[in-house]
Amino acid sequence: MEKVIIVGSGCAGLTAAIYAARANLNPLVLEGRQPGGQLSTTTLVENFPGFSEGIDGPQLILNMHQQAEKFGARFSYAEVTDYEARNDHIRVMADDEWLETQALIIASGASARYLGLDDEEKLIGHGLTSCATCDGAFYKNVPVAVVGGGDSAAEESTFLTRFASKVYLIHRRDQLRASKIMQERVFANKKIEPIWNTVITKYLPDEKGEMSGVRLRNVKTNEEHDLPVACVFVAIGHDPNTRAYQGKLETDPDGYLIARKLVESKHPGVFIAGDVADRVYKQAVTAAGSGCAAAIEAERYLSDLENSKAD
Ligand code: NAP
Repeated sequence: MEKVIIVGSGCAGLTAAIYAARANLNPLVLEGRQPGGQLSTTTLVENFPGFSEGIDGPQLILNMHQQAEKFGARFSYAEVTDYEARNDHIRVMADDEWLETQALIIASGASARYLGLDDEEKLIGHGLTSCATCDGAFYKNVPVAVVGGGDSAAEESTFLTRFASKVYLIHRRDQLRASKIMQERVFANKKIEPIWNTVITKYLPDEKGEMSGVRLRNVKTNEEHDLPVACVFVAIGHDPNTRAYQGKLETDPDGYLIARKLVESKHPGVFIAGDVADRVYKQAVTAAGSGCAAAIEAERYLSDLENSKAD
């Protein structure tokens, strides 16, 4: 029986781990298949308080990981696929094994969304990706496309100009939703060419199965044309990783967990932190804040539990 299991090792999970470990709860962090969460695939984080020159996302995550480990957090790459909670009996299925715990913090984050077009699964890793930091350097001196109009699309487009000969920013509207500072960087960069009011209708792989271009449709005129690109970087948002909890904990129509009083779930001893329940802010610092709150609530819950057993 564990005292605290934390599902997820992004900003929320690691902050919860630091707090739970410092409270001597010896937490077990189930990192899952993408350790470090979304920060591990971003570039410079400029808005995390305390880093006035910015800090690389993977470095920030590494620092948090080391900080949690220093205080006694334990880590496993196991992935959680199922969950049960009855009375004060909580357990998660992690790599085919049920692990029991007195308190659980769900900080499983969110995963990149793709467009849902034909051949998508086959093309991922062959010129289709959601991670510019991971794959950008493979596409030197060739044209690439980024899809989306938010901060991720703006950031990835700007980053990719370090490598690509040209970056087409394909957006379904005629306005970016990215923050003003990110938009200014995009518009000031001569290597980025926005393609407005346009969606991708088809990926065009070559005979080896590598991306060689995309078919585009202008949503205003319905005109279609093909655009040769060596890679498509999809940056159209994320879906919460909540499959293990569907039908068991409360979710909104898009699958985000619903937290009561900031981090509580409907099951006593089960707490929720970070992007798995956040469809509004989705910032590293808000994820860290809720991870901290979840760990403090878990600690209070465990000491109440202990006191009630002693009575
Ligand atoms: P987002 O803000 O939700 O933007 C998603 C973009 O993709 C939108 O422009 C949306 O178009 C478009 N889109 C969604 N579904 C689509 C589809 N099926 N086909 C074509 N386009 C589609 O997501 P995000 O850019 O990943 O950002 C998420 C959060 O992280 C935000 O709060 C953002 O501020 C934050 N973030 C911050 C930074 C930073 O500060 N350094 C970096 C990255 C992300 P519409 O505009 O038409 O809806």
